[in-house]
Amino acid sequence: MTAAMTATAQRAEFRAAGTDLSERRRSGVSRGPLIDLSATPDTIGVTWAADGAATIGALTSIAAIGADPRIAAAYPGIAAAASGLATPQVRHLATLGGNLAQRSRCWYFRDPHIACLRKGGSDCPARTGNHLYSVAFDLGPCVAPHPSTMAAALLAYDARIITSQRPGISIGELLGDGSNATSDHALAPDEMIRGVELSAPLPGERALYKRAISRSHAEWPLVEVCARAVVTSDTFQFIRLTAGGVAPVPLRLAACETALQGKAANATAIAEAARLARSGANPLPMTGYKLDLLEGVVRDVLERLLEKVG
Ligand SMILES: Cc1cc2nc3c(=O)[nH]c(=O)nc-3n(C[C@H](O)[C@H](O)[C@H](O)COP(=O)(O)OP(=O)(O)OC[C@H]3O[C@@H](n4cnc5c(N)ncnc54)[C@H](O)[C@@H]3O)c2cc1C
Repeated sequence: MTAAMTATAQRAEFRAAGTDLSERRRSGVSRGPLIDLSATPDTIGVTWAADGAATIGALTSIAAIGADPRIAAAYPGIAAAASGLATPQVRHLATLGGNLAQRSRCWYFRDPHIACLRKGGSDCPARTGNHLYSVAFDLGPCVAPHPSTMAAALLAYDARIITSQRPGISIGELLGDGSNATSDHALAPDEMIRGVELSAPLPGERALYKRAISRSHAEWPLVEVCARAVVTSDTFQFIRLTAGGVAPVPLRLAACETALQGKAANATAIAEAARLARSGANPLPMTGYKLDLLEGVVRDVLERLLEKVG
């Protein structure tokens, strides 16, 4: 282990439910002091404003978010993402803050004997090694996809993150642009996520979340997509599409959105827009397949969204 890896590993880390951290502790990838987080009234549960906007405490469990009927009605994409990730056991324990701040799933990062950029090493071994599950949008020096399903869904909702040091930053600011070689988020070492603020849902909006996965459950997705839309008079009045699993940060699929915004809501427009999901992609030798999956999932989500609206 290099000196840089040791310095990074010995930094104090928050522990919420520990479903990510415990595995890194066991392997020795995380070795610094721990700060246990316990719930306070403002960090657990959901509070609702008069206009219908929700604030979700960072220590709220993923299962509680997935099972909350009011969240499911107002923010179906978030409820579906919460219900679809990991396993019932993990969801029962795992917290929203821990999900957003969880570390990379790259096997090179998780191996205590291998240096990598995330641990202060000088290069990314996945680039020249086995990167089957890595990014198809190569935006930074590290090629691991961002691990957080909740981040991909919250990006579709323009969520704001309340931290112990900042009253509200955009989810995009929390995630960064993917160029940070050493971290999966832009939190300062002692900065705690306290909650997530959402805007009130748009009138008539519908949303869906879907993932492509290599087995039926208990696995991070190869590709995941969250879509929100308002359709009136057979026209997309509002459309928002985000994707996870394909880049070092969850992505807004801007080219698809532009192709659909204000356009006829029909199968032809959806198929054309879905093809644009790969705009800007620069896959690695082993990750081109993710673009086919992405196009398929975008198309499927939009078609199902249209059926729902209908
Ligand atoms: C089999 C399996 C499948 C999985 N599939 C998925 C999946 O599909 N999608 C997905 O998103 N996740 C998946 N996960 C990961 C799981 O969702 C995370 O382990 C969990 O969300 C982490 O939450 P936690 O409360 O246990 O965090 P912890 O393990 O306690 O912490 C994780 C990290 O976040 C930091 N942290 C925790 N809380 C805060 C806070 N409030 N503020 C700042 N930093 C904080 C900690 O310091 C630590 O670095 C899977 C896990 C397993 C075991």
